[in-house]
Formats: sequence, structure tokens, C-alpha cells
Amino acid sequence: MPELPEVETTCQGISPHLSGRKITSIDVRNGSLRWPVSDEIYHLKNLPLASEGCVSRRAKYILIQLPKSQHIIIHLGMSGSLRISSPDEELKKHDHVIFHLSSGLQMRYHDPRRFGCVLWTDQKISQHPLMSKLGPEPLTDDFSAEYLIEKSKLRKKAIKPHIMDNHIVVGAGNIYACEALFMAGIHPKREAGKISNPRLSKLRDTIREVLQRSIDQGGTTLKDFIQSDGQPGYFKQQLNVYDREGKQCRKCDSSIKRIILGQRSTFYCPKCQK
Ligand SMILES: [Zn+2]
Repeated sequence: MPELPEVETTCQGISPHLSGRKITSIDVRNGSLRWPVSDEIYHLKNLPLASEGCVSRRAKYILIQLPKSQHIIIHLGMSGSLRISSPDEELKKHDHVIFHLSSGLQMRYHDPRRFGCVLWTDQKISQHPLMSKLGPEPLTDDFSAEYLIEKSKLRKKAIKPHIMDNHIVVGAGNIYACEALFMAGIHPKREAGKISNPRLSKLRDTIREVLQRSIDQGGTTLKDFIQSDGQPGYFKQQLNVYDREGKQCRKCDSSIKRIILGQRSTFYCPKCQK
């Protein structure tokens, strides 16, 4: 599943191809995504895009700013990707939405499982129902240690599902939550409200660190963005616990355990994480 770093890399990858160009038209080949492609998308034509800042991201939503405060909202769902293609390149089976650009290139939305979305809105984006309840972006100052401490007070929920809750902070997907908790030495089942302030503060730092490292690595895939197979893949940073059940902890001699917590596979070291 594309996580926040992959989505950020996608934004960085498509931005130079959209900035200062026009979307001349959009072909919807299959509009049955998680939510139907907005009717307006079928009719958009000759839309000039700003030369700066026309592509942004909120949580895992890719936002393309159009004139008159309109936006296209794209989510990659479980298996989606966007890539820049030449029109000569043969369409793939799951290329569902084709954005024709004034440069002559195309941006193709590809999504085999169709859990993503391509929506249109002229609402203020921060007030859009998909965005309005979201917690802060993890890499901004809004996600401060004080904020996480305040949000964790008296909470009986286990810390892992707590930090994976989009209302608390966005972007801490399963892999990143497992890794950040390992780096902070916190057991995934520990009650959020019973973790000391310095440990929560450390956790806030490790969430940012693991996401930032992944985004930095993603940057190295950008040069391939225009190739047909150039979908940004999963970033192969060295993982300490995720998907390492039974393997030796990289810090001690224990073996990594797997449990199900909040319906998600959860990996941790029983000795390093308390
Ligand atoms: Zn260990």
C-alpha cells in the first residue's frame, strides 16, 4: 500500500510535469473507483496550472490545484500509482484515468484494485469532508511533543493504534508505527495514557525520523518517474522489526515477536520495548 513517503515522492515526481502547464482534457476509462470519479472530472478542459505550488499533499491525498479554488483530489488506495507517460506508450489494463497535458505528455492513474479515488471539489480544501477531521502532518511543527502528550493524556488505547489514528496524526502507517515504536523502545500494547512525557516526546521524534528517512530515500527514485515501469515502489529502508517475526533483534539477542493489534500485524522486540 502506498504510504505517506510514497505519496510525497509521487507529488515530487509529478509536480515538474504539471507546473505551469495545462490539463487539456481528461479521459476516464473506468470511473468505478472506491468512490465514483466525480462527474466534473469528465468535463474539465484547458485548465492552466500555477507554475508553483499546484501539487500538494494532505495526509495521503494528492491535491492538484486548479483555477478558481477548484481541486482534483487523488488517493492511491491500496495499489494506485500516477506516472508520466508519452502518448505513444501503450495503455495498461488498469490505467483508469488519463490526464492530457499541454506538454504533450500524459499523467496516468493506474490502480489494479480500484480502492483509490479521483475527485473534484470547489470547496475550501481544509473543510472538505475527507480532510476536515485529519490530525496534523507529522513533519510539521504542529506535530509537537506537547501536542502528542496532550492527545495521549488519560487515553486507555494501546499506543500503536493510537498513533495510527488519523485524528491524532496522519501518516503513521503500519510499517512506520512498528519501526517508530521500536526506535523509541515502547511496547506497542502500552496504554497511551501511561507513557511518560519524555518517552512520548522520543516517540514523536522517531515517527518523524522514520518517515523523513523514507522520503529522503524516495527522492532517489524520482529520476525514473517518467519510465513506464517508474511507479514509486516501496522504499527499501532497513527495517528493524517489521516483517521480521522470529528473526534476531538488531539490538539484543531476543527474537522479534508478531501479534495482532487493532487488526494489524504488529512486530516488536519483547526485550527492547517496554
Ligand atoms: Zn531487542
